[in-house]
Amino acid sequence: MQQKIVVLGAGESGVGAAFLAQQKGFEVFVSDRGKIKDSFKKELEEKGIPYEEGQHTIEKIFSATEIIKSPGIPDTVPMIVELQEKGIPIISEIEFASRYTDAFLIGITGSNGKTTTALLTYHLLQAANFDVVLAGNVGYSFARKVAEKEVKYYVLELSSFQLDGIDQFRPHISLLLNITPDHLDRYDYKMENYIRSKFRITRNQTTTDTFYFKKEDENIGGYMAEHTILPQKMAISSTQIDKEKINSANASFDLSTTRFRGQHNAMNALFAVSVAKQLQLSDEQIQAGLDTFVNVAHRMEVVAEIDGVEYINDSKATNVDATFYALEAMKRPIVWIVGGQDKGNDYQPLENLVADKVESIVFLGVDNSKLIKLYGGQKKWVEAKSAKEAVQKAKMLAEKGEVVLLSPACASFDLFKNYENRGDLFREAVLQLKDK
Ligand code: ADP
Repeated sequence: MQQKIVVLGAGESGVGAAFLAQQKGFEVFVSDRGKIKDSFKKELEEKGIPYEEGQHTIEKIFSATEIIKSPGIPDTVPMIVELQEKGIPIISEIEFASRYTDAFLIGITGSNGKTTTALLTYHLLQAANFDVVLAGNVGYSFARKVAEKEVKYYVLELSSFQLDGIDQFRPHISLLLNITPDHLDRYDYKMENYIRSKFRITRNQTTTDTFYFKKEDENIGGYMAEHTILPQKMAISSTQIDKEKINSANASFDLSTTRFRGQHNAMNALFAVSVAKQLQLSDEQIQAGLDTFVNVAHRMEVVAEIDGVEYINDSKATNVDATFYALEAMKRPIVWIVGGQDKGNDYQPLENLVADKVESIVFLGVDNSKLIKLYGGQKKWVEAKSAKEAVQKAKMLAEKGEVVLLSPACASFDLFKNYENRGDLFREAVLQLKDK
């Protein structure tokens, strides 16, 4: 009997998985309960892959020999529970793709810094002429890339949801950047479940593989004290950072000539540089790569300096820890744009930074009551219901020599399509100030 793969969820990972499954000779069916993006529909049609949207046809789905589930679908959805009860294997696209490549895999996870570190690792290797592809949670899916061509190295950004769906996936090098509270709504509001999920990146690694982790992270340390981790353990420590220098394996690299800002990015750079050293890049190659690296938008992106005020877009800071590092990295007094959809945030870690560095606040969200209660008595503040209004009000509040920082610590879905949309509208509004 021909094996039948059903792909649930037709985003980038689902569509990539469908291509690979078709290429490997499976019968494939794609089902998405929501709307499928036109560009993905077109691709599926071009390849003759059957799909449905706006519904799940139960008979078709339950006839699968294996299910590839999008990381966006929680395990608690009734249909998923039923599939599990029926014993139909459910895996992630990452697991599926890994069956069809013998390449050297570098897997990167953590609560914050995954994209930055994955992009930098990829950039360093590519600049040194490695046969390398970037995939996973950033850019294109792993499965799509495996279907496209053979390469020697993959740099993979991996979310906890993607790791939840692995079984045999085994990276040769794994990176666990940090673990701070995020997505707890998907983990029964239990931190230990989220931590376990992140550590799945090491579960199939053997003694010949390597595991890089943040030494000072208490959640990581706590887990490692109680569990056996087989791969070579390589601690990355903030003591390797000395102002604008980072030190790795007897070499020192200068960040002052790069676009990296802040302690958190120095940590990200240390992780990427350590991988590059392990893969035998020369110190010159690494420094050159650091100097030419440009991060993607929405991560402490300097938008403009207008009338002596700097405007920074850190819309990707969708949790408290990311905002912590943004506030910490600022050298000027801050007009802080914060707020959005609260994920059960505990703002306590920000207390001292806000007290010391923030001059005034623009609350940008549908419901700002929790933040107003916290900070309203301490600081000058206003509310805004759009990025444009937030920027205009921030401009009024900002004095020469200050910085307007959009670092919301919250998800964006109350007012915006996503964090990119929030950041784009912020940038646009700032650039409009310039034109005036
Ligand atoms: P991710 O892919 O894990 O979401 P990004 O590189 O996209 O990570 O960064 C997300 C947010 O977290 C940005 O606001 C960024 O400034 C911040 N950030 C980046 N690296 C770190 C880190 N190592 N620790 C804490 N925050 C970080």
